[in-house]
Amino acid sequence: MVYEVQKKPKGNYSIINHKHPERLFVLLTPRFTRVSTAIRKASSANREPSAIAFRQKLGKLEMEYLYERKQCTLTVKLRNDDDFAFLNVRIDICGAIWNAGCTIMREYYKNTGKTMAKGMLYSQLGEMRKHTTSWQLVYSQTVQQIADRILAGYELFFTNIRKKKEGAKLRCSPPKCHKIRKQKSMTFKQYGKGFWFSGRGEVTIQGRKFRYYDSYDGLLEHVNVHTMTVKRNSLGEIFLYITCAADTKGEIWGDRAAVGMDFGLKRFLTLSDGTVIDSPLWYKEYLNEIRKLNRKLSRRQGGKPGEKWSNGYKKALKNLARLHLKIANQRKDWFYKLARELCRRYHTICIEDLNIKAMQMHRNWGRKVGDLAFAEFVMILESIAEKFRTTVVKIGTFFPSSKTCSCCGHVHEHLDLEDRVYVCEKCGFTIDRDLNAAINILREGLRILEEDTAGKPA
Ligand SMILES: [Zn+2]
Repeated sequence: MVYEVQKKPKGNYSIINHKHPERLFVLLTPRFTRVSTAIRKASSANREPSAIAFRQKLGKLEMEYLYERKQCTLTVKLRNDDDFAFLNVRIDICGAIWNAGCTIMREYYKNTGKTMAKGMLYSQLGEMRKHTTSWQLVYSQTVQQIADRILAGYELFFTNIRKKKEGAKLRCSPPKCHKIRKQKSMTFKQYGKGFWFSGRGEVTIQGRKFRYYDSYDGLLEHVNVHTMTVKRNSLGEIFLYITCAADTKGEIWGDRAAVGMDFGLKRFLTLSDGTVIDSPLWYKEYLNEIRKLNRKLSRRQGGKPGEKWSNGYKKALKNLARLHLKIANQRKDWFYKLARELCRRYHTICIEDLNIKAMQMHRNWGRKVGDLAFAEFVMILESIAEKFRTTVVKIGTFFPSSKTCSCCGHVHEHLDLEDRVYVCEKCGFTIDRDLNAAINILREGLRILEEDTAGKPA
C-alpha cells in the first residue's frame, strides 16, 4: 500500500493513499497523541489495515514511521491530594485474598499433587468473599484476577522445574504468602466495571472520583481501554497502569548495520565494531548515602522483630525507599536511552543469553552484576527493538564466544578468566578479549538468523 506524506502549514502532515485518495486522508500534528487519535479514527472509519507506513526525508537520514494498532500500557500518576486511604484499604484486602488463595492452592497441591482448576479456585475464593464482609469492598473480577495470577505463578513454577531438570540453574518456588503491606496492586479486568474515565483528567474508581496527571493529553478518553491496575510504590504514591489497544508509533531508520554485543563486568558493553560503552555504577555512587540512611534507620525504634514501628522509623524507611527508587529510575532512564540509540544504529543485534542468576550466585560479583542489571537491560532492549523493527538474536549459553578465535576459528580451551587480551594459540592473532567475543557473537547470531529464515517458507 502506498501512502504519501504531505507537509502542511503549522508543522502538520497529511497522509494520502493514492490508490483510494477518498478513503484515507489523515491530518497529522506533531503531537503523538493527536496523531494516534487521527489514525485510529481514519482506520476504523475506512476499515483499512491499521498499520500505516510512510517515509520522510529528515536531513540526510531517511526515516520510516510505522503506525500500528496494538496492545500497549499507558501509565499515569494520581494526584497526591486525593483520598489514597480509600485505595490502600482495598489493596490491603487484595493482599489478604492473595494469601488466602496461595494457602488454598498449596494445600490442594500437597494433598493431590495437582494444581486446582481455574473454575474451582474462582468458586472457592468467591465463596469466601460471600462470607467475609471486608472482602466485599473488592470487586469479584478483581478477586478472579488475583486467582489468575496465582495460577500463572504455578505455571511458571512448573516450567522452571522442567527447565531445571534439563540442567538450567534456576531457583523456583510456587507463589507464596506475603506481608499485607507488600501487596502492591489491584486490577480491574473490564472497562466500566469498577472504573471509567470521566474526562478532564478524572477517573472514577469504585464510585469515587480521582484526578490524575494527564501526561497523554486526553488520549485516555479516546482509546479502547481493556484493563486497569492501581499500583502503589514504596513511597506511597499511586499509579494507574492502563492496557489498551492504541496506535503506536515506531521508527525505522535507513542505513543500519548488524552488530554483536558482549556484556562484561569491567565494561558494560563491547560492540563488534569496536565501540565500548561503560555503565555508570549508580549503586556504588550512592553507596555511602545508602549506608548513612541505613544507620539512621537502625537507630530508630521499630526495627527489631515484634517491635512497633515508630514515626521516626517510618520516616527513615521512606527516605531509604526514595533513594532506592531514585537509583532504579536513573538506571532505567539510561537503559532506555542506550537501547534507543542502539536500535537507531543497528537493524540486527546479537547478544548472549546470559544466565544472570548463576552469575549473581557468584559471591564476589553479586553486587556489581546487580548494579549493571543486564537482565533488565535486555528486557528493555527487546521492547524498544520491536518498535524500531530491530531483530534481537539470543545466542545459547554454551556457545564459546570468548574462547573462539575470531580470525581463524580455533577454540582455546583453557582460557584464563583474568586475561584481558586474547592471543590465539594457532594463528597468533591478538585482540581485546571482549571485542573478540563480540565479533564471535555477531557471526553466530547471523548464522542462527540465516538458519531460521532458510527453514521458513518465504
Ligand atoms: Zn586464530
